Amino acid sequence: MLESLSTRLARVVKTMKGEARLTESNTADMLREIRMALLEADVALPVVREFIAKVKERALGQDVVGSLSPGQALVGVVHRELANVIGADLGKEASQINLATQPPAIILMAGLQGAGKTTTVAKLAKHLIDTRKKKVLTVSGDVYRPAAIEQLKTVTGQAGAEWFPSTPDQKPVDIARAALDYARNHYFDVLIVDTAGRLAIDDAMMKEIAELHAAIKPIETLFVVDAMQGQDAVNVAKAFSDALPLTGVVLTKTDGDSRGGAALSVRHITGKPIKFIGVSEKIGGLEAFDADGFANRILG
Ligand code: GDP
Repeated sequence: MLESLSTRLARVVKTMKGEARLTESNTADMLREIRMALLEADVALPVVREFIAKVKERALGQDVVGSLSPGQALVGVVHRELANVIGADLGKEASQINLATQPPAIILMAGLQGAGKTTTVAKLAKHLIDTRKKKVLTVSGDVYRPAAIEQLKTVTGQAGAEWFPSTPDQKPVDIARAALDYARNHYFDVLIVDTAGRLAIDDAMMKEIAELHAAIKPIETLFVVDAMQGQDAVNVAKAFSDALPLTGVVLTKTDGDSRGGAALSVRHITGKPIKFIGVSEKIGGLEAFDADGFANRILG
């Protein structure tokens, strides 16, 4: 059983009683505990290092106010910094889907196979229908897995959106263009384009999605990543971020037992807001990302 960050910090806080300020020496133990806990929460090492450096800079020399002990003050610094790193400083609008364009607004989904792209397309369609009263069309550019096209058809139906057919003999760019024409001619507000994912990063996949992006110029390009992916999330996020101008991230499977450390890594690497989190397999299982709440979860 892993010890939560809060528990670890509480233990060190006790040993810091009676001291009036945060100093290099009394924060050292605390920073070591934070480092261990973040690594255990699967935050990537370079991200942990940078985070620790920031917390240290904020904390040192900070006068301890009122009834706070230096330890409690440091816990406060950690919480605030954690929330900021994952996006609290971006404000609530950051989690909105941008539809401010001539309709149909195109949303392109990117990510590895199994990350939750197809499921998220349907969740997002339902979200846009329910909360923003939009008319939504979906299409699959996954020409490698006919089952993926069928899966999108099924979940799109559950979402109450419309699905545009595609077949494995077509090119993804042609599929997307045909869907776009259909969306224009039938006055859709939004077109969500699902894409093929591989089990690991490969150049052909990146080239294909980059070409697709260039052809349809989506207003939103969302990187879908599995919260359970842990350390690997960094490499995957880097590859997608290098290949595509991402506009946001969807962190799926946060209902699993990961601490959510991937949120830090992915924010750090992409620099883009986490817009939504997946909280169940069900079609309603999508929530706007709340950085403060998520910071609490990482703290444990
Ligand atoms: P894709 O290959 O990226 O399109 O991934 P899928 O959408 O097919 O999802 C892969 C698996 O993850 C499916 O079994 C989904 O039901 C599941 N999944 C997707 N999002 C979530 C989520 O937020 N929570 C849970 N528990 N499962 C999810």
